[in-house]
Amino acid sequence: MTFHRAEAIVNLDAIASNIAILKKRAGVPILAVVKADAYGHGLIPVARTAVDVGAQWLGVALLEEAIALRENKITVPTIAWLVPPGSDFASAINSDIDLGVASLEIFKEIIHASKSLGKRARIHIEVDTGMTRGGFLTEWESFLELLSKESEHIEVVGLFSHFARADEPGQPQNALQLKRFTEMSDDLNRIGIEPEIHHLSNSAATLVDASAHFDLVRTGIAMYGLTPDFGNLGSSQSLGLIPAMTLRAKLHVVKDVLAGTPVGYGALASTISDTKLGVVVMGYADGIPRIAQGAGVFFDGKRAPIIGRVSMDQFVVDLGATSLAKGGDWVTIFGAGSEGEYTADDWGRASLSINYEIVTRIASRVPRIYEQASTLGVL
Ligand SMILES: *Cc1c(COP(=O)(O)O)cnc(C)c1O
Repeated sequence: MTFHRAEAIVNLDAIASNIAILKKRAGVPILAVVKADAYGHGLIPVARTAVDVGAQWLGVALLEEAIALRENKITVPTIAWLVPPGSDFASAINSDIDLGVASLEIFKEIIHASKSLGKRARIHIEVDTGMTRGGFLTEWESFLELLSKESEHIEVVGLFSHFARADEPGQPQNALQLKRFTEMSDDLNRIGIEPEIHHLSNSAATLVDASAHFDLVRTGIAMYGLTPDFGNLGSSQSLGLIPAMTLRAKLHVVKDVLAGTPVGYGALASTISDTKLGVVVMGYADGIPRIAQGAGVFFDGKRAPIIGRVSMDQFVVDLGATSLAKGGDWVTIFGAGSEGEYTADDWGRASLSINYEIVTRIASRVPRIYEQASTLGVL
């Protein structure tokens, strides 16, 4: 019995099983990407599960995410790679958090913090091989110069980069990024720096491009059982992955409505026949995209599509004239898809977006409920 009106149910065994599959595919250690509250699944429970099943590294975007891991006594090597100038580098160094270095300015601040603490920062040098976000590009030569001078003050643990199109196997940009990565690695070696760990692959490259695995792969979306790209790489199921999150909410009201009745803000849609409508207690403030059209909910073995525009706290679905649904019943918004329910991929398509955005935007006011069989150790 629960009084919740909505829940994101997270199956930690699914995450464990996905990591086991990715480990097998990778053949090298796994860095579990747990940024953005573990893609909306919950930072600490997911990080603990990942470490329990053998992820040797954790990766986050923000320093505060890494610090939250340390505060919860999670001590495996952890990288924070989105640390702009002005970040609390001293705390990072004191908490043994590895830092991504994406520019000269960031590097200078890290060196400064290392010197004032008398403790060497552990860094991963980010190179821009074609993504054109963070990472060294035009500053590369000056960085190498400064690194040669200051190398005694820091520990260069890793060299990394990020693919822009790994979800498009065979795309020439992937081969080009791989080549640049190797060249920039050679540049480092030439000044006498040989990082322990080279890492380039995200989930898509982990699944489809063994030539890019190097010493470590950084897997995010696939850990959560979602496909990096439904169109190019196939469904979760075809990849052997189990979607970990099921999102469900209660119906607030169920009512009979005549054909031709307009529904919701702007009267975007009208009923086409006499039917039963259900009001779902979740809206865009919970992370349901306002523009979603073509997804819906699953109840009693049947899909009930959205009708009208999604509101802030609620949306309306067409349950069909013969539905037995009533107020207070649970409906599934998305799940693994194995019973016919909509998936995060369906919601992504319905919102001109992707599964990544659907799961990461589930709001904090939606409680996360964890499911985990005691058999975890068997995986
Ligand atoms: C988010 C992120 C990843 C994980 O990407 P997925 O496509 O979710 O596997 C890997 N590396 C970096 C640098 C990232 O920012």
